[in-house]
Amino acid sequence: MVKRCCYGVCNTDSRYEDRLQDGVYFLPFPKKSNNLEKCLKWIKACGRPHSQFNVERITRATYICSKHFVNKNGPTEEYPDPIPFDGRTPKPARKVLTKRVIETPKAAPNRQVKRKLIYSETSEIQTTEITPDSNKENIPPDFNKENTVAIQTEGGWADPIDILSLTVQKEILERDLARKILDNEKLTLNNASRKSQKIFQVQQRERSIFSAENFTKDDKMLRYYSGFNNTEFNAVFKFLVPDSSNYPLKMSKNMKIKIKIKDQLFFTLCKLRNNLDFTDLGYRFQISTQDCSSLFCDWINFMYLRFGAVCTWPPRDMIIKNMPENYKRDFPNTLAIIDGTEIKIQKPSSLHAQSQSYSNYKSTNTLKALVAVDPRGSLLFTSCLFSGAISDKDIFEQSGLKKMLQNLVQHGHIKEGDGIMADKGFNIHKEVEDCKLKLNSSRCTFNKEDCCTSRTC
Ligand SMILES: [Zn+2]
Repeated sequence: MVKRCCYGVCNTDSRYEDRLQDGVYFLPFPKKSNNLEKCLKWIKACGRPHSQFNVERITRATYICSKHFVNKNGPTEEYPDPIPFDGRTPKPARKVLTKRVIETPKAAPNRQVKRKLIYSETSEIQTTEITPDSNKENIPPDFNKENTVAIQTEGGWADPIDILSLTVQKEILERDLARKILDNEKLTLNNASRKSQKIFQVQQRERSIFSAENFTKDDKMLRYYSGFNNTEFNAVFKFLVPDSSNYPLKMSKNMKIKIKIKDQLFFTLCKLRNNLDFTDLGYRFQISTQDCSSLFCDWINFMYLRFGAVCTWPPRDMIIKNMPENYKRDFPNTLAIIDGTEIKIQKPSSLHAQSQSYSNYKSTNTLKALVAVDPRGSLLFTSCLFSGAISDKDIFEQSGLKKMLQNLVQHGHIKEGDGIMADKGFNIHKEVEDCKLKLNSSRCTFNKEDCCTSRTC
């Protein structure tokens, strides 16, 4: 049942728990049938207009909250009534002596016993045996206590039915509270078990997932999948992502890759090293096939930018120092060997593209790249891919190698007059001389014995 306070503008309401703080509780309003005087007194104290709140409006559902009494905790024996709305402190209640009526057993040998509740002004309720001659004034000094059932109430305000209803309500509330506490405990337990289950699942998932973290202690397998051991892998990662708190890539589509940055690199290296297909990789790394494709493209572009910025041309002294002895004897200052490499492609449908990519050397459609290595075979330069029909002269110029050599000469990485070695087909004498370098053609530089075993012949 909804209980609302009827005092002045008080908004205490049992439906809103926040208004029931500090142990505020509801008291039934005195009824005119039980105690008209008290009822009127309380109505006056509430301070509401007569048209709104009067004796006729008091029902069983009329309540007042406990905070309108002195000490804000309901009526006491001393202050049984609410504080008047104008804030005056009410006068303490006058104590009236209890009137007890009792009859001695002698006075009524054949009595008809009636039990009656006497409601006294001091609110002491007594059950007294009353006989027809009970009006006689023969009250003994020590009255029979066993026959007196006194219900002590506070300050003469409540009606026994209200007390009963309050007691019942209190019990119901207590039972509700106990049930709610129990429910709450159950919920807390459930939550805790669900939380621990979730943590366990996450841990299981992390353990089973294919990640760089899980390979840190297994150099052999890490090398198998990525081509690096743990130290090398970490060095590459640190070079690519110096600050792992900032995500280095700009994603091509608005996707949120759920795997860690380190695992993204591991994923890319797995693809590069073993060419696992995206369905397989997606399953291993727990991401979708589409995400695999985008992630791989993004990382390849990112790696191209990061690694492309690194100057791979070592100092001149270092190249000479590390030359193979035989080579050093014959070509002490030939610092690089260049050659073209061709990759066979599917025959394009466009005739123009067909003629552009047709390589006479390989007799098929190809794409061509220019590569420069040092005398030990380390890669110094790779161009991007050109169509197979491009001439060596053009590729030397268009790939940027010519420009790079000129810069290297200018900055002293290569001295003027140093050599570049190329295959006999490379007709780039003039271009190399433009760079103030010398071209050693493999046909004329190798002796006959070497020539027979040389791949370039
Ligand atoms: Zn109130």
